[in-house]
Amino acid sequence: MFKWLGSLTDSNERELKKLSPLVQATNSLEPQFERLSDAELREKTEELKKRLTDGETLEEILPPAFAAVREAARRTLGQRHFDVQLMGGIVLHQGKSAEMKTGEGKTLVATLPLYLNALTGKGCHLVTLNDYLARRDPVWMGAIYHLLGVSVSSIVHEAAYIYDPAYSASDPRWNGLRPISRREAYSADITYGTNHEFGFDYLRDNMARDLSQTVQRPLYYAIVDEVDNILIDEARTPLIISGPSPEPTQRYYAFSRIVSRLKPQEDFQVDEKERAVTLTDLGISRVEKALKDLGELKAAGLYDAANYYLSYYLESALKAMVLFRRDKDYVVKDGQVIIVDEFTGRLMFGRRYSEGLHQAIEAKEGVKVQQETVTYATITLQNYFRMYEKLAGMTGTAVTEAEEFHKIYKLEVVVIPTHKDMVRVDHPDRVYKTEEGKFRAAAREIEELHKKGQPVLVGTTSIEKNEKLSEMLGLRGVPHQVLNAKQHEKEASIIAQAGRLAAVTVATNMAGRGVDIILGGNPDGLALGRGLDPLAQPEEYKEALASLQKQCAQEREKVVDLGGLFILGTERHEARRIDNQLRGRSGRQGDPGASRFYISLEDELVRNFGGDRVKAVMDWAGLDEDTPIEHSMVSKAIENAQIKVEAINFDIRKHLVEYDDVLNKHREVIYGERRKTLSGADLRPNILEAIREEIAAVIEASADEHGALDPEKLQAELFTFLPLPPTLSLDGNKPRKELEEELVGLAERLYQEKEEKIGGEDMRLLERLVMLGTMDKLWVEHLTLMENMRHGIGLRAYGQADPLVAYKREGHNLFQSLLSATKYDVVRTIYKAGIVRQAPQPREPVGVAAGHKTGRNDPCPCGSGKKYKKCHGK
Ligand code: ADP
Ligand code: MG
Repeated sequence: MFKWLGSLTDSNERELKKLSPLVQATNSLEPQFERLSDAELREKTEELKKRLTDGETLEEILPPAFAAVREAARRTLGQRHFDVQLMGGIVLHQGKSAEMKTGEGKTLVATLPLYLNALTGKGCHLVTLNDYLARRDPVWMGAIYHLLGVSVSSIVHEAAYIYDPAYSASDPRWNGLRPISRREAYSADITYGTNHEFGFDYLRDNMARDLSQTVQRPLYYAIVDEVDNILIDEARTPLIISGPSPEPTQRYYAFSRIVSRLKPQEDFQVDEKERAVTLTDLGISRVEKALKDLGELKAAGLYDAANYYLSYYLESALKAMVLFRRDKDYVVKDGQVIIVDEFTGRLMFGRRYSEGLHQAIEAKEGVKVQQETVTYATITLQNYFRMYEKLAGMTGTAVTEAEEFHKIYKLEVVVIPTHKDMVRVDHPDRVYKTEEGKFRAAAREIEELHKKGQPVLVGTTSIEKNEKLSEMLGLRGVPHQVLNAKQHEKEASIIAQAGRLAAVTVATNMAGRGVDIILGGNPDGLALGRGLDPLAQPEEYKEALASLQKQCAQEREKVVDLGGLFILGTERHEARRIDNQLRGRSGRQGDPGASRFYISLEDELVRNFGGDRVKAVMDWAGLDEDTPIEHSMVSKAIENAQIKVEAINFDIRKHLVEYDDVLNKHREVIYGERRKTLSGADLRPNILEAIREEIAAVIEASADEHGALDPEKLQAELFTFLPLPPTLSLDGNKPRKELEEELVGLAERLYQEKEEKIGGEDMRLLERLVMLGTMDKLWVEHLTLMENMRHGIGLRAYGQADPLVAYKREGHNLFQSLLSATKYDVVRTIYKAGIVRQAPQPREPVGVAAGHKTGRNDPCPCGSGKKYKKCHGK
């Protein structure tokens, strides 16, 4: 382990050394670029583009491109990229992950490689954590791009903008963001947006029935900000576009009732670590009996193939009852079950657990079970991001997850040194016997810090704990701000001021991530908070800002003297990385700061994974509730527990990808075919070929075991798809080949007749529509089949063969059936189909969140502009 780490450090040193010539080359251009006028600086963009078209590589033009961005940033923002920031920029350009601590200025770093790569004209994406940042960052960095003459856009949920410094928005914070269409936004040189928006646009583009409805260009280069959060934490839930299905919902209530009568241990067993529930034999027979009484059992045994669909309900009902807890995993609000993000503690409105779990929880809570959904399109974030030609990431905490980045995304992690030395003091953990004792001590400490005037940011792991602590602080009369499951924007404005004198901010672990905490306060935020509009009231704004800047600077001095921002963690998170994130909020850019975690033996992590050793130490020391212990042995044990959980979670995600990889191959083929069809490929030869094959197959199927043809059977079969003259009579004694030739000739003639009747152009359109309609319908069915099959396999293969192998094999079979079914359906539709012309309808921008459900009368999520029930919901 240490050896491995050692070699990692060495190779990191080597990587950093390799960057230095490029940094020096950029630096040496600086005096020359400083002398350019703004117009001359802008001309650099055209000049560099030309050098690229003349055959130079991106590496060759990196120094002048970086020098141009640095100079533009100095002129517009008054911020000159530090050398370490250039290093970060090079690493990002190379398609790696740059680990740069919080506050090192990653927003500014990204401008370097984004500009450089945008010179190719291919469109670069910056992936942000949330919509708030997707708006903030292009506005913040906009002036740099604007000076250099490259366009930058922002896509958020149901809106898209282009940066235009003269544009005055109704909310002054978003001055500069002019609304445009999504397609236009994707044509910009650089686009900021969240992983959800990028991913859903990709899926929606692949549901479009016309090329003009698609919005994205081919995926070229993406930089993922806070990459660990997006590619690791969020990567557990795939993106799904779904709509309602006609399946009954009562079954969920029935199953909920059945499992609620089961007894732990006797009927089922729980593995809390693996988050798994398994029925005992007794449990199985109880469930079977109950189902039999309800008349639901289609075969004797619960796990017989005919009953697979039931195990789906059973599994979700069991999980809902045993593993999911109200107010921790989800909350019930206004008759709805709302997921709580386990990492941020936010309420994830509109998100639903997949695979029937959400419905099962609704049944358990006795609220209305929302109708089940059909999946129209789905992809894991892993497979979405792997489609980019080049992928890069940046975050303050990547190195603990280096293995996963490498294995799943082929992303190498390079640790960039900080601009100034880090001086934050990380105190050892304080461990208490009970949770009560721990919270009492934490509240006491917060009160003391507050009295002293030192700002403190308190991190908790859940809303529940957040509220508990808030109550305790209230009782002690400590004024504080609580960040829960509120909007990102509001959280951002609160957290931005968390470094003010005596500020107490209680937040779920990652609330407001991406927002800089400046000691003494953020003057811009305070000025905007007064409702001043810098575009509408430039003078007033400037004046207020100047006085606030002075005030914040004075406050900063005091806060620095008090030791900077104090981070107080109230529980260790499952992943060390999240703890490091929390700590990293303090001590930015050489600021003083401190951190300490409060832990109790009753914490979930310690209970499940800490082992008896920790407990033994406490008992042995004979400590009471209020006396903490600080011992390296305890901290070590907790860290080991975290490493264990990290590995389990990595496994879960790896698993998800391994399964999605199977489907991904199918998706590639189908989406590829769709693309070809949409871009106007001539389908006539393919369809005629399919007709020929179908005729041969029908002939084959009409022969008896001795090879003798049954002409009547053959004729009946042919009539199902060919508009044959009713007078046709087939000679069953003709040689097979001859008969086939004759029929194929006839079919081709009929095809030609149809084409002459409706015209070549419409025939091509018809072919396309029939092909797309068929592919889409069968693809959606395929997604459901694959999902059900996976469930079935999970149950069947329990403890035996590797379920993944079985999934791959059966997946392959299902895919082959999908391909032949497509042919079959196309052949059987093409002669019958016709075109009815409708007035064109504009495409409404529609947003679909993960698990978002479309009503029958809503616009279809594919963006056709038609009602859902008239389009994909048919
Ligand atoms: P990160 O994303 O790495 O946590 P941010 O991009 O939020 O950091 O930037 C942190 C702070 O550092 C911001 O206030 C930003 O303006 C400031 N900053 C970044 N780079 C520079 C620079 N080269 N010169 C001056 N200030 C900088
Ligand atoms: Mg950031």
